[in-house]
Amino acid sequence: MNKWVYKLQRFMMGRNGMDYLSLFLWILSVLLTFIHMFIRKNILIYIGDVFLLISIFRILSKNIYKRQQENRIFLQIISPLTNRINDMQKQKKDPDHRYYRCPKCHQLVRVPKGRGRIEITCPRCKNIFEKRS
Ligand SMILES: [Zn+2]
Repeated sequence: MNKWVYKLQRFMMGRNGMDYLSLFLWILSVLLTFIHMFIRKNILIYIGDVFLLISIFRILSKNIYKRQQENRIFLQIISPLTNRINDMQKQKKDPDHRYYRCPKCHQLVRVPKGRGRIEITCPRCKNIFEKRS
């Protein structure tokens, strides 16, 4: 058992390994295969296979610099979504406050809950915007 772990570790040395973009492609591939069970269009399987192959290629790739660059761009593209998820998690942990993003600079602003309509001054760019708290 340990021998195989060691061999796998050696094999993966100097390779990119799993990152968010590869994980995303892998999930997309699984999702397309799943959708194929309901919509029997073979094109879904082919696209899924392409995503899976790209994912495997990226995991095994030795051009780590290039793969990290791709991953960074990917994270930038999905950052509005990941920001929103982070905000929602913060909001859930802190029911006494409301969290808003400044419409100008996207700074996260926390205000006390239950004050009705309030004017919020962004601490970073001093932009004033109105929200319900
Ligand atoms: Zn701002």
